[in-house]
Amino acid sequence: MLLPPISPAPWSSGFKHACAGCGELVAGLEVGGYCADCWRARTRRAGRIARWAALAATVPFAVYLMLVLPATREWRLIGASTAVVWYFLTGLIARRAVLQWIK
Ligand SMILES: [Zn+2]
Repeated sequence: MLLPPISPAPWSSGFKHACAGCGELVAGLEVGGYCADCWRARTRRAGRIARWAALAATVPFAVYLMLVLPATREWRLIGASTAVVWYFLTGLIARRAVLQWIK
């Protein structure tokens, strides 16, 4: 059985809307949306900012873990892996937040 092609907004595909980033008219773009180039540039920028934000959040946390956890090899390893997980999670959250926030 053939299924119709999936289109999230078939009614908007015939209209052109200006990209919120560069102002270029792009067919099928939602109002206030970004063209492919601007979207790529935005996600790259958001990723860069998010990495720094995650690092800024992780360093004090890692220092705190070092001070609080016993100075044995096992606990150092647990602390380090916790910090790594913390870094990736805060990076993900920061990326989402930055994407909402930057224009
Ligand atoms: Zn654009």
